[in-house]
Amino acid sequence: MNRELLRSLPKVDELLQEETIKMQLESNIRVLVLDSLREAIELYRKAILNDEIQALTKEEVISYSIKLLNKKNSPKLRKVINATGTVVHTNLGRSLLSKDAIDRVINVAENYNNLEYDIEKGKRGSRYSHIEDILIKITGGEAAMVVNNNAAAVMLALDTLCREKEAIVSRGQLVEIGGSFRVPEVMKFSGAKLVEVGTTNRTHLYDYEDNITENTGVLLKVHTSNFKIMGFTEEVSIEDLVVLGNGKDIPVVEDIGSGVLIDFSKYGFVYEPTVQESIKKGIDVVTFSGDKMLGGPQAGIIVGKKKYIDRMRKNQLTRALRIDKMTLAALEGTLAHYLEEAEAIKNIPTLNMLLCNKEELKKSAKKLKRMLQNKTDKFTFTIDNDYSMVGGGSMPTEKIETYVIKIKSESYGAQQIEEILRMNEVAIIVRISNNEVIMDLRTLFEKDYGLIVEAFKSMQNV
Ligand SMILES: *Cc1c(COP(=O)(O)O)cnc(C)c1O
Repeated sequence: MNRELLRSLPKVDELLQEETIKMQLESNIRVLVLDSLREAIELYRKAILNDEIQALTKEEVISYSIKLLNKKNSPKLRKVINATGTVVHTNLGRSLLSKDAIDRVINVAENYNNLEYDIEKGKRGSRYSHIEDILIKITGGEAAMVVNNNAAAVMLALDTLCREKEAIVSRGQLVEIGGSFRVPEVMKFSGAKLVEVGTTNRTHLYDYEDNITENTGVLLKVHTSNFKIMGFTEEVSIEDLVVLGNGKDIPVVEDIGSGVLIDFSKYGFVYEPTVQESIKKGIDVVTFSGDKMLGGPQAGIIVGKKKYIDRMRKNQLTRALRIDKMTLAALEGTLAHYLEEAEAIKNIPTLNMLLCNKEELKKSAKKLKRMLQNKTDKFTFTIDNDYSMVGGGSMPTEKIETYVIKIKSESYGAQQIEEILRMNEVAIIVRISNNEVIMDLRTLFEKDYGLIVEAFKSMQNV
């Protein structure tokens, strides 16, 4: 161990006299500057004790402390660049909001608003009233309300309609979605008792029929969003469930998952059931997410028969699951686009990215490749065909044709490039496939090309 070096380690008081640090103190919170200095000194002390360094300057400690300070100042929850091509990426925040939705959020966030105030009557109003009409108009349901997320929506529906009663569900629909939503667990939290019927691959109408007792509260259908059973399969249709349920006065509840409001098969995708269709088929209650393929904020939307939704509104659980004003504003802004399909596709980033034309992506790939090649020579960039994913557990088998840029380097391995991009000031999240780094143009924005180029430029000097 180098005692001489240890003694030369600067003290906090000493560093506070340095001009650079004095400047930092002017524009930063004092405790953060002090913490950064202490942490930087501590780091170098350990390095000396472990014989990891043989020389040290005050400037090194200062420059490291400023790095730490910048990190402390930047938000923990922050922007990343999604180059994975997975559009509804749950780990990366699912859907991006439309410009209009964002403006509405800002407006209610920086002003008082009529969240629970009826302006016409001059008295207390309901927070759910603001979006009920538009949800009814778009989906064709009789009534609508919104809670925190779809898991909460399912819980509320079951708790209201099925507390201490039985919910009949097909074994083929007892799914786990993203590790956090397991149909059986959610049902347990609501006071509903689960009655599993049928088998994993085949469930018939008589399986439901035979298990109905005076204790049955709900016939539940869950859209198996994130997996597909193929081959010898059978599922009972909504129409059949509705006839059965109506005849016995038992509500039929559907968790449709993704909240698809436009027919994606028109655009060359596999058919994904829409909310409107379930309503048309007579479903009593349907629940779905706001931030999956609908392209809005995190929310759980419940649409259906008024007599059931009125009961949910009165459930005490609703108070605990309620959504806030910013979510409401964003959701209203998102839904407004759906009044005209072309507007929705044009303005809602999730739809826009999913339906983006392949030729557009090729043009973007060429442009980004040109920019990257002009600034670096340690990498080779190749444009190739590949597939993007919808994500968020939606359309798991759908492979959307896309264009990607593949990156190779003599100086760096694929894992190394991935890590450096991820640790960039604005993290760039890429895919690795067959030991190649891949950037999918589908989820990239032109405004970020500069940042991507800078990140590669920083790898020039090795
Ligand atoms: C995604 C999903 C959920 C969970 O929705 P959240 O909005 O994430 O709570 C529940 N059910 C199905 C079928 C889903 O696809």
